[in-house]
Amino acid sequence: MTETNGNHVKILILGSGPAGFAAALYAARAELAPLVLTGNQLGGQAALTYTIENYPGFPEGVGGAQLGELFQKQAEHFGTRVEFDLANKVNLSARPFRVQTEAGEYLADSLIVTTGASPIHLNVPGEDTLLGRGVSYCATCDGAFFKDRKVVVVGGGDSALEEGLFLTRYATSVTIVHRRDELRAGAILQKRAKEHPKIQFVWNTAVTEVLGSDKMEAVRLKNLQSGDETLLEADGIFIFVGHTPNTEIFKGELKMDSHGYIEVDHLMQTSVPGVYAAGEAADPHFRQVVTSAGMGAAAAIQATRFLEAESG
Ligand code: NAP
Repeated sequence: MTETNGNHVKILILGSGPAGFAAALYAARAELAPLVLTGNQLGGQAALTYTIENYPGFPEGVGGAQLGELFQKQAEHFGTRVEFDLANKVNLSARPFRVQTEAGEYLADSLIVTTGASPIHLNVPGEDTLLGRGVSYCATCDGAFFKDRKVVVVGGGDSALEEGLFLTRYATSVTIVHRRDELRAGAILQKRAKEHPKIQFVWNTAVTEVLGSDKMEAVRLKNLQSGDETLLEADGIFIFVGHTPNTEIFKGELKMDSHGYIEVDHLMQTSVPGVYAAGEAADPHFRQVVTSAGMGAAAAIQATRFLEAESG
């Protein structure tokens, strides 16, 4: 890709998760030949989920990666172009919008931001140095490395419990460490986890260090009520303490809340006319595959109307 002129598109979609491909499907069916830049993770976070049981239309559940492939195939069927590229700088001060990527530059008459979110780190000693050698943020990706091993899961939300349950396929024991004595996760997951013979909970406790030299060997735990510290031997730690939106490149360009979520109105419009945002980059509240896909569709419908109004 060397010529900027060949890269001028009507609708550019940044991100390839449920919001991105739903937006692409609608834009493609409006014959706007959208371009999707996949970002680092094709299919977004949903593609890293082993089974998705709450996306309508799949009564038996569907694999996250499989659902991502179906989304992509359907969007491409109607004329979406998909490039494995990552945006790293945008200029939204004038139209066409300019988006610099790893491979070059694109010009876009309208832009749909569906860059999603990334896992939050605990920021404790050992977490970064032992990444990939015991520390993980994705059970679906790394769980199989922990066959017949002991693992720790951090967090008390849906992700921690769902991924903790998934890890019982491989691990001999899964210890869920949570900073409170009450879980945030939904009732069904709570029941399944609490009844699972391989899962135990450690309440009111924080992980303060991941220990090991070549590979992880233990975690240091601190009881947040008594202050007592203990070591727990384990081969792996899976951290699910929430997400942060991937919106760094839009700072100063789009209005955001204090956590970096892009502000949108009910029409998915951002603070810049012609720029829309959908999915977890703009949604700190629902963060579901189905709601992200819905937002993506809405953003594309609105972008289509915006372009139509302009062309008269
Ligand atoms: P979440 O709901 O925000 O939960 C994060 C958990 O991590 C909370 O229990 C929180 O504790 C804990 N935590 C946060 N910061 C921490 C820190 N620094 N140290 C230790 N613990 C910390 O995040 P999530 O579980 O990733 O879920 C995100 C969204 O996706 C939610 O809306 C969820 O419903 C959805 N989701 C749904 C499904 C499903 O429906 N099957 C599956 C996965 C995710 P506190 O509870 O004390 O705040």
